[in-house]
Amino acid sequence: MRAFYIGRFQPYHLGHQQVLEQIYQEADEIVIGIGSAQLSHTASDPFTSGERVMMITQSLKRLGKVLYVIPIEDIRRNAVWVPHVCSMSPYFDVVYTNNPYVIRLFEESGFKVKKSPLYQREKFSGTEIRRRMLSNEPWEHLVPIAVVNVIKEIDGVQRLKDVFKNDEFFD
Ligand code: NAP
Repeated sequence: MRAFYIGRFQPYHLGHQQVLEQIYQEADEIVIGIGSAQLSHTASDPFTSGERVMMITQSLKRLGKVLYVIPIEDIRRNAVWVPHVCSMSPYFDVVYTNNPYVIRLFEESGFKVKKSPLYQREKFSGTEIRRRMLSNEPWEHLVPIAVVNVIKEIDGVQRLKDVFKNDEFFD
């Protein structure tokens, strides 16, 4: 069985990792859709789709399972978003998500959807990790070590600070 899981992963963190490890207990292969793939260099979406591909593939490599990581750009028509996703992705049997809007779009297109609540949501949150980066608080313990390495390699914390200043400048 091949599962599909989508998120923005800004950044990929241990809550996502926990969900994916659980999905691997039910699925033989997972397709991870990197949502809003066109976005980067903003305070809420600082990382490019390529950087998010690196974070995810390197974090899940140690599991030794089949994984496809597919960047998927947003489109302006929700009604045809699911066919758009399918056109970019390997075939999948079941969708795992916890977002009611994404659940509705996939169910209306006839897909089987399973709920995948995030692990320790109050602790593992992309918004909280970006806030910590901006205020020089520890964040490294909230993401896999591979993500720490990618963010260091691309000078990601400084990028976030710079784009945040830019957003404030134009407010
Ligand atoms: P998301 O933008 O990644 O997540 C939205 C919020 O839900 C974030 O706070 C996220 O936290 C949280 N979250 C993520 N996974 C969760 C889980 N398993 N349990 C509880 N909370 C969770 O959105 P998404 O639903 O996961 O991904 C949907 C992607 O598809 C987005 O990129 C969206 O733009 C795209 N999309 C596009 C269209 C279109 O183009 N028309 C239509 C539908 C969806 P973290 O920040 O901690 O991950």
